[in-house]
Amino acid sequence: MVIIGGGPAGLSAGIYASRGRLKTILIEKGAIGGAIVNASLVENYPGFPDGVSGIDLTQAMYRQAVKFGLETVTAEVTAVVPEAEVKLVRTTEGDYRARALIIAGGSERAKLGVPGEAEFTGRGVSYCATCDGAFFRDKVVAVVGGGDSAVTDALELTHFARKVFLIHRRHELRATRVLQERALNEKKIEFVWESAVTEIKGEKFVNTIRLRHVKTGAENELAVDGVFVSVGNYPATAYLKGVVALDSNGAVVVNEKMETSARGIFAAGDIRSGSIRQVISAAGDGAVAAVSAAAYLGV
Ligand code: NAP
Repeated sequence: MVIIGGGPAGLSAGIYASRGRLKTILIEKGAIGGAIVNASLVENYPGFPDGVSGIDLTQAMYRQAVKFGLETVTAEVTAVVPEAEVKLVRTTEGDYRARALIIAGGSERAKLGVPGEAEFTGRGVSYCATCDGAFFRDKVVAVVGGGDSAVTDALELTHFARKVFLIHRRHELRATRVLQERALNEKKIEFVWESAVTEIKGEKFVNTIRLRHVKTGAENELAVDGVFVSVGNYPATAYLKGVVALDSNGAVVVNEKMETSARGIFAAGDIRSGSIRQVISAAGDGAVAAVSAAAYLGV
């Protein structure tokens, strides 16, 4: 069996598959742990009443999987070719052949798509508050977005920045209520409602963002040292077009057994259609996918 992706979905599948004594290789292009490694505190994974960091949680999952025999490889998957009973997985480090495949490759961070964003990435524009927050000690930063990620990032940044603008395109946050309450009570956070960032400007580093009020169309500029973009994610399925059915958002369509449209190929976690994109559901999906894959293999 091959598992693509080393986040909670892939690691959970790895634990189940390895305990089932399936010869299993997990392929991960970056660090083990997936997107949740950027969370300094996960408060909603059962069993951790005081919370746990994303790194500690996924490292424990990794140790648990390796203990039962999971092998991991660092490589980027570039193509999947279903060849009758065998699935060929092409990677930057060579080809793998598997009788069953679990796709758990998660999602990519969405971009704003405005002028200056690409130019200033790494020079004031960031997609990871946990990674880059400390560079903005006593500075003024903006977070763009209104979901759990944006609000979590804004709260995280209050530990470093002197002021955090949270810029959202509506007048209502999408984030979980408990996070909203914390942010609304945090004096360092100033909400900028119903506003879209239209441009990111600077010289060597970011120094200004241009905003447009979505209702009145009025434009203004805000002086900031950093911009954290937290406007959601999209499934990382570019290499899967034509291999398995994807929904209109590009997520892998699965049934309740995590079976995709292709026999012997399963999907789990953020990459699959209908995911609620939480660690707990990703881990659950991984278990379902591995049990279904074992049944498919007849073991
Ligand atoms: P999300 O829930 O999809 O929210 C994306 C936010 O960005 C929305 O508020 C959206 O606005 C805004 N947005 C989207 N495109 C935009 C654009 N082009 N310009 C400006 N704003 C834009 O994404 P997320 O916050 O990354 O969360 C993803 C998943 O991870 C969710 O399921 C979330 O629950 C989970 N997560 C959970 C936690 C936690 O603590 N439990 C932490 C982080 C993430 P609208 O609201 O107007 O659509």
